[in-house]
Amino acid sequence: MAYARAPGAAWVNHSTRRRRYGDAPITEWYRGMSVHTPAFGGADRWKPKKKRVLIVEDNHLDSALFGALLESQGHEVLKAGNADDGLKLARAEEPDLIIMDVRLPGMSGLEATRTLKNEDQTRDIPIIVTSAYGPYADKNDLRESGCDAYMPTPIEITGFVDLVHSFLSRIPAKRA
Ligand code: MN
Repeated sequence: MAYARAPGAAWVNHSTRRRRYGDAPITEWYRGMSVHTPAFGGADRWKPKKKRVLIVEDNHLDSALFGALLESQGHEVLKAGNADDGLKLARAEEPDLIIMDVRLPGMSGLEATRTLKNEDQTRDIPIIVTSAYGPYADKNDLRESGCDAYMPTPIEITGFVDLVHSFLSRIPAKRA
């Protein structure tokens, strides 16, 4: 027997949920809900105000994907294709968040992360390190770099947006 449909868009019965999300565990489903659906207030309630995010990434596909996702959320994106340019941009622009690839031409992303975390001007900028090493990444290297989070690629889109916003939301208004 079909469920009666409650008024309003937020109500979803179990068969709808299964159609949309397959066999995803319920926690995953709720995580997706927070970003994409109006059920809990929708994207506007969860989305932080416009922020600036620096992407340090030599892989053009990843760089374009991260950039497009961030811009879709209303953020401003700065891009660097290597660590040297990334360091310069980080110091000059003091972005609200940095997404840092590990394997870059020249200096590695972990070295660049260490550098930024050792400088007074930049140490408070959260850094999400990203790499295709996935579960094989050396956790000690990651920890010692001082990065704030590690995100394996390829990314899971909802998870990426949630992770980014978990950092952007906790940043108080700065540079008065
Ligand atoms: Mn790379």
